[in-house]
Amino acid sequence: KRDGARVGVWTSGMAGTVGVRSWELALHAQLRRAIANRELVLYYQPLQDAATGRVSGVEALVRWCHPERGLLPPGSFLPMAERSTLIIDLTWWELDEALGQCAAWVREGLHIPVSANLSARMLVVDDLPRLITRRLEAYDLPPDMLTLEITESALISQPARAATMLGELRTAGVKLALDDFGTGYSSMEILKALPFDEMKIDKGFVADARGSLPDVAIVRSVIDLGHRLGLRVVGEGVEDEESARMLIELGVDLLQGDALSPPLPADELAALLRGGYRPVAASGEEA
Ligand code: C2E
Ligand code: MG
Ligand code: MG
Ligand code: MG
Repeated sequence: KRDGARVGVWTSGMAGTVGVRSWELALHAQLRRAIANRELVLYYQPLQDAATGRVSGVEALVRWCHPERGLLPPGSFLPMAERSTLIIDLTWWELDEALGQCAAWVREGLHIPVSANLSARMLVVDDLPRLITRRLEAYDLPPDMLTLEITESALISQPARAATMLGELRTAGVKLALDDFGTGYSSMEILKALPFDEMKIDKGFVADARGSLPDVAIVRSVIDLGHRLGLRVVGEGVEDEESARMLIELGVDLLQGDALSPPLPADELAALLRGGYRPVAASGEEA
């Protein structure tokens, strides 16, 4: 396996796309095995309610615990998985894992709604809404314990199909979030046409909000837009307390980022909540 990867790197320099493809094929085979060998793990990152300072849910984020290369972030293997149907297997694995964990927490007395990322490819899976609601039933979870996060770019390719799928999921009671808002192209069209519950402002904007006045003005307007459309607004990628305070002042409903907590393995996340989560920059209305 190692050799395959090395040859891939070498040939990609020597032979252009052919090399890139063999590199991908090696990685692809490894990832397929990784799913079977349970080398993939979900980490969970809390979302903090801006008003109460409580954790209102967690986002499930995949990592690959590679036997030789250590813990790999999704950016190093998801793009490749997304170019094939492997992303479909990976997503079902991810949903089963996240829902199973959520159900286990419920049995332990912890109420932790989970958000899972849905790749664009999933929107062409036949019968997606029914397959997802069946799984929720199998885990004995109410549908609003699951939020599906979808990026704008995922919705662009097949907007009509996406609208039908998402409409059915919403009717079934599953929550929907528009992820990475502000990084796509036709945000307004998508917001107008699709039934979201939540808008997640991309971390790029969140980082910028500490800077110049135009950036603050943009973030303020995006939050206002979300609220006028009846959405909960999440600020993601909050890296320090100053940004958290800023976002709360600008009116976000939920905060997510390393300043609050990095993504954690399931047991560490549960321990954090059990030990009494200490909110960052909460307004303290209910404290
Ligand atoms: P995302 O859904 O926007 O997830 C948020 C990303 O921001 C995560 O990166 C998270 O670790 C990172 N993050 C959290 N706090 C901070 C912070 O304070 N500063 C900065 N700079 N970053 C922060 P991660 O885990 O590397 O995931 C990257 C993307 O990969 C995700 O973006 C999501 O689009 C995708 N992804 C992750 N897990 C899955 C999965 O299981 N399935 C699918 N389809 N996509 C996934
Ligand atoms: Mg996400
Ligand atoms: Mg995001
Ligand atoms: Mg992102």
